[in-house]
Amino acid sequence: MNNSFTHPEFADHERVVFVNDTAAGLQAIIAVHNTQRGPAIGGCRMWSYESADAALTDVLRLSRGMTYKNALAGISSGGGKSVIIGNPRTEKTPALFRAMGAAIESLGGRYIVAEDSGTSPADMGLMAEVTSYVAGLESDSSSGDPSPSTALGVFLSIREAVGFRFGQSSLVGVRVHIQGLGKVGFELAKLLVSDGAIVSASDINEANCRRARDELSIRTVSNDVLLTEPCDVFAPCALGGVLNEWSIATLNTAVIAGAANNQLLTQEDQERLDNAGILYCPDYLINAGGVIDVFQRRHGGTQEDIDADISAIAARLKSILTEAKSRRISPAQVAQERAEILINGRQNDPIPTVAA
Ligand code: NAD
Repeated sequence: MNNSFTHPEFADHERVVFVNDTAAGLQAIIAVHNTQRGPAIGGCRMWSYESADAALTDVLRLSRGMTYKNALAGISSGGGKSVIIGNPRTEKTPALFRAMGAAIESLGGRYIVAEDSGTSPADMGLMAEVTSYVAGLESDSSSGDPSPSTALGVFLSIREAVGFRFGQSSLVGVRVHIQGLGKVGFELAKLLVSDGAIVSASDINEANCRRARDELSIRTVSNDVLLTEPCDVFAPCALGGVLNEWSIATLNTAVIAGAANNQLLTQEDQERLDNAGILYCPDYLINAGGVIDVFQRRHGGTQEDIDADISAIAARLKSILTEAKSRRISPAQVAQERAEILINGRQNDPIPTVAA
């Protein structure tokens, strides 16, 4: 395993905590990237990583991304993330989540956890038995699941990007390919279908495909078809790294706008997208609806506050696309510059990325 300090994704993290609780069967990593704007907030992902090194790479990339996402979203929070190494379908136990909660409690509030891929509001409830540093809990006003808010932010951003690219205000007849029909992808598909888009989707979980066919009447296809067949918008809503040398060579789309974190496998992939003439909406800019939701609810915000902040995502995207066009640089570059100024008052040196 890489030494954390020299890990290519280390990116000046403030803390990286390895958690090992044999009795509870817990192996996890908590990464706190930056708390300059406030305590770090970010989800806890549970995934069957092929190695501890893969988990470390993932949590470091995700945690840094949260610093940028939260800053751009205007949240007074820093960036952090955690990962539990394990299969979310077969290895969840109450003891595991209580042990994770205890580890988060030991950080004294530097990191506030929320749900992510592989975890649920019920898992957050178990952590909340031992720590108060949990967001996204079930309450009278919320199911605790921030995914519909994430989907709404992505949906409004797709409308904005389509308007910018094609000069049309409606999604009627726009072909959208969604990869991943989980908590966000399904909600996004629902919004797109009701707005008149023609949606095709893929998921490695056949049950999720069947549900989308039955409830939304959308077409489901293999990833091979999804990534090669012409479409207007490609919306990655599965896991990261989907935009890479190989996929960009086959993608036949004008716009990419989705919820998945860390969609670009390497920094060169931004250049590949630019060269291919594909308008890429930076993931951390447009998928901030969920963190806005959990942050607002934790701080007593109303549904109106949440809706206003989510609408602001699309307005921010429009401003970033406009600036990028006039400066002839990528929207990702503009988003990064704006985030870095919000985080530390100046732009950072570029941080090299490597394959996750
Ligand atoms: P999820 O686990 O509910 O859904 C992910 C779906 O992708 C699953 O149905 C899974 O079977 C599918 N999938 C995995 N690998 C795939 C592949 N190779 N091809 C096709 N499908 C595949 O997760 P989610 O909460 O919907 O989140 C989706 C993405 O959005 C993740 O990257 C997550 O980090 C990001 N995100 C989620 C939120 C949120 O509010 N849930 C917020 C911001 C970002």
